Amino acid sequence: MNEFLNFIDGRFVATGKTFDDRNPATGRVIGLVHEAGAAEVDAAVQAARRALKGDWGRMPVVKRVELLYAVADEINRRFDDFLAAEVADTGKPRSLASHVDIPRGAANFKVFADIVKNVPTESFEMATPDGGTALSYALRTPLGVVGVVCPWNLPLLLMTWKVGPALACGNTVVVKPSEETPATATLLGEVMNAVGMPPGVYNVVHGFGPNSAGEFLTRHPGVNGITFTGETRTGEAIMAAAAKGVRPVSFELGGKNAGIVFADADFDKAVAGITRSAFENCGQVCLGTERVYVQRPIFDRFVAALKASAEKLKMGLPHEPGVGLGPLISAEHRRKVLSYYDRARAEGATVVTGGGAPAMTGEAADGYWVQPTIWTGLPETSAVIREEIFGPCCHVAPFDTVEEAVALANDTEYGLATTVWTQNLSTAHRMAREIEVGLCWINSWFLRDLRTAFGGAKASGIGREGGVHSLEFYTELRNVMVKL
Ligand code: NAD
Repeated sequence: MNEFLNFIDGRFVATGKTFDDRNPATGRVIGLVHEAGAAEVDAAVQAARRALKGDWGRMPVVKRVELLYAVADEINRRFDDFLAAEVADTGKPRSLASHVDIPRGAANFKVFADIVKNVPTESFEMATPDGGTALSYALRTPLGVVGVVCPWNLPLLLMTWKVGPALACGNTVVVKPSEETPATATLLGEVMNAVGMPPGVYNVVHGFGPNSAGEFLTRHPGVNGITFTGETRTGEAIMAAAAKGVRPVSFELGGKNAGIVFADADFDKAVAGITRSAFENCGQVCLGTERVYVQRPIFDRFVAALKASAEKLKMGLPHEPGVGLGPLISAEHRRKVLSYYDRARAEGATVVTGGGAPAMTGEAADGYWVQPTIWTGLPETSAVIREEIFGPCCHVAPFDTVEEAVALANDTEYGLATTVWTQNLSTAHRMAREIEVGLCWINSWFLRDLRTAFGGAKASGIGREGGVHSLEFYTELRNVMVKL
């Protein structure tokens, strides 16, 4: 049985108080996780503070960058270990984790190492009242100890998306991975030691949210800023914790994203695109599409094609050939998703496909599976359309005009992402201007250039990360004024 220990000051730390880690594809316990209490969280924060003042804080940027390259190389060298750990924790198809999660985990260190090496700061020369001149310039200094609180849907990818830039900017981190997916954050501790990262730069504390490691970390006064990915309601609790000491936050939160398909779209590409955005990672992607709006002339044809495409997805264990759909993350999450399936039916939705839990056999019999599901016919006021379900499901409704599509897309508390399918250039640009989101994909979905800004509008987040935008959060600009 695996044991997942905390990683504090370069050492693996057991606490003796453990909870189970399960493989969602089988429902079986695959590991014991050592839960950090307030004392371990404090030890991690103190270690991070010492590292900030020690070797790491004094390290020239070129050396720091070399270490981050080494981290990326070591992740790639141990690719199979990371892949096995991520797949066991999430149950997602191996092909998905090997093409997306693990390569991005390594890339997140390389990309930000490159950015931090090349980023300029400002300088101005000005006239002074005594007729002389002064030179002012900006120094970028680290924010300090950064608390990193992570979700379970893309564990390594989303964690390194924050740890990469935080370390590149000279900070130290204390990471609280999701209680559902402790493995890859722990494995990264081994990588840090292997490349010679100074102790205390990267720390991991395991546990839950309230009254556990998550709350202890975000309330700890030694943490200078908190970066969080997860549910909007959790973000509210973390923001309240961060208010003490007016500490900055960077939040990537929930979504209820609209996919909009115009009658002039490339039909087959739109069907394939919406299939991916609704069902990839079993619908457990913050950027996924749970609301689909299709222009009326192609509505019936589109719903039929989406149904056929969803029914072609093969559900199964991660290593099975051709598998496109894994399980949900936990029994609890499955209960939540199925409650929306029941609700949709009770509210009179037409269930185009799916709508329940499949009967799985063999090793998969006790996994947390649900069917990919498509509904039509619900009113826009339905909770199924308003609340984030985070499962492999979407509701499809017709629209007539551009104005109506914009109004429907914007009628939500969230503002994370949208995907628009049209061949008309003006329509595309108009949608990009008018839909209130942080990310707008045109004729695509999940295409990412890591140099660009990533984040959500409205209740989907605070701030932007990605490229130089990450530096806005992970550094403080210090103005230096020199009288010449
Ligand atoms: P969650 O909010 O339940 O948990 C996320 C993390 O917060 C976990 O590590 C959890 O232990 C911790 N936590 C919970 N309560 C806490 C508290 N009071 N104080 C401190 N920490 C606390 O989210 P989840 O279920 O793990 O992930 C799914 C959610 O994440 C969805 O809403 C999804 O949209 C969102 N998400 C957003 C993005 C994005 O980039 N915007 C990306 C991925 C996931």
